[in-house]
Amino acid sequence: MAGAPLHKILTVVWAAGGASAAARERTQAAAQLAADMKAEFAVLALGLGTGTVAPALAVAGANEILVSEEEALQVAPGEAGLRAIERACELTGADLVLLPADSLGRDWAPRLAYRLGAGLVTEVTDWSLAAGRPIFERLVFGGKAIATMVVAEGRAVAATRPGAGRRDAPPPSGRGEVRALGLPIPLDPLWPRVVRRQSEEREGPGLDEARVIVSGGRGLGGPEGFARLGDLAAALGGALGASRAAVDEGWAPATWQIGQTGKTVAPELYIAVGISGASQHLVGCSKAKTIVAINSDPDAPIFDYARFGVVGDWRVIVPALTAAVKEMRDR
Ligand SMILES: Cc1cc2nc3c(=O)[nH]c(=O)nc-3n(C[C@H](O)[C@H](O)[C@H](O)COP(=O)(O)OP(=O)(O)OC[C@H]3O[C@@H](n4cnc5c(N)ncnc54)[C@H](O)[C@@H]3O)c2cc1C
Repeated sequence: MAGAPLHKILTVVWAAGGASAAARERTQAAAQLAADMKAEFAVLALGLGTGTVAPALAVAGANEILVSEEEALQVAPGEAGLRAIERACELTGADLVLLPADSLGRDWAPRLAYRLGAGLVTEVTDWSLAAGRPIFERLVFGGKAIATMVVAEGRAVAATRPGAGRRDAPPPSGRGEVRALGLPIPLDPLWPRVVRRQSEEREGPGLDEARVIVSGGRGLGGPEGFARLGDLAAALGGALGASRAAVDEGWAPATWQIGQTGKTVAPELYIAVGISGASQHLVGCSKAKTIVAINSDPDAPIFDYARFGVVGDWRVIVPALTAAVKEMRDR
């Protein structure tokens, strides 16, 4: 039996140094859900420099923006972040908390649910509504099936993947009222700390941010294929991705891998080149708005998921496509 409708949504974004595209998109999806549920909506922005993100988050639909810029969030984001989120739940009375299903969010979600006595759904890819409570979707069996899950009663915590809840029409701008969380978070010497940060060297946008991703698979036949895909990605202002087969072959770094054991991405455009379309790959890119497949096998499973498909050898198609994009761009 369905429980009482939920009334207050809190979403958590990591916004150190600015509101990333991912943070804005998460805010927008949560704001839309709040509008559909006729619920109140607040965002907790975590990290140093979050004070400046209010205008961007307000445009994305945030009414109330709680900010925490505690130093401890940099040093021990797992523990300090959890305390900040708990405090934000107290302040807002949130009964639905949306966390990102990234490495930090996956750490926070079960611990927060336990502390709040809330039900938990993880790896959420989309949602709908019934009687004021969300019905969450998550992919199961390596992306071969969708499970629908509800937290039938009481508060709910959901860890949501990139692109979850994305709708075509963005919600109206929110009020954007900023409030400091007001919780000092002293660093506990027993907390696990970040000892070193290493950024991936990459030209152009990262996979989390990119509006266009050009991804290569085993069908490229070797590492040099990625140089050709790089030309196309650069022409489109996009990023390079890879299938696990290409990564296992050593043609692309592991950080480029898309899929069940790689990254989940949700770009506007995903171009899959020489990728067969295994469910374990698709689980990482199914939230792309448009998938284009280039494959020499007309029966490749990727064509069942692609909006546009080109049957042929990538060696012919990709250079022609790159030239056409450059010509259009420079026109
Ligand atoms: C537990 C588990 C987790 C996994 N996690 C992931 C994951 O995170 N990400 C992932 O990608 N995979 C993952 N896999 C592996 C997955 O099952 C597939 O094996 C893998 O995705 C296949 O990669 P591929 O499509 O590049 O290669 P293939 O399946 O070998 O496909 C190559 C494609 O290239 C096409 N092709 C060949 N030559 C050309 C040409 N000249 N021009 C155009 N097309 C050409 C072929 O027709 C074919 O369709 C996982 C598997 C398991 C069991």
